[in-house]
Amino acid sequence: MQTPSFGTYEELVEQAGQFHGDICHGIKIGTRMTMAGLRRIGITDPKGADRKKLMVFVEIDRCTTDAIMALTGCRPGKRTMKIRDYGKMAATFINLETNTAFRVVVKGNRKQGENGGEEPDFATLPEEELFTINEVAVPLRPEDMPGKPLSRVPCARCGETVMDGREVRDGERVLCVPCSAAVDYYRITD
Ligand SMILES: [Zn+2]
Ligand SMILES: [Zn+2]
Repeated sequence: MQTPSFGTYEELVEQAGQFHGDICHGIKIGTRMTMAGLRRIGITDPKGADRKKLMVFVEIDRCTTDAIMALTGCRPGKRTMKIRDYGKMAATFINLETNTAFRVVVKGNRKQGENGGEEPDFATLPEEELFTINEVAVPLRPEDMPGKPLSRVPCARCGETVMDGREVRDGERVLCVPCSAAVDYYRITD
């Protein structure tokens, strides 16, 4: 396995584990995902010199996301980490300067103790056994980038403010996503 110049697997998995609370299976996989992704896009100093060049899309709200967050310094609140909750162990690493992006997907269902055997040694397992990696294009809009909000509009139905072009246009009406879909994750109970 090639060692990226931003750290060895052992150093990185330790950092990611500290952020997450323990070094679980997902943290080990997430560490390897980050190493694979950053190397492909040519980023070696994600929290220093390269920090303005990097954006990551993650596709799950689990441990791997914590590893990616800890090691890349990308955060939802900085708009450098986008969470697409597809329930997939996958992430796309984007170099905003060179406009290159690679999507890293965990192969099969790599579970701890699968086949009743021991957990694989994540420090040495070849990348091609762990992941499917493809170069991808990620169209980013100005309203997806870090910086000040580019727009604020009120929803015509609930009156709440929607920022950064996340509104939906229904003919003449401007609606927020839940109002336009008539469905949401919460119910008002009082
Ligand atoms: Zn975990
Ligand atoms: Zn609304």
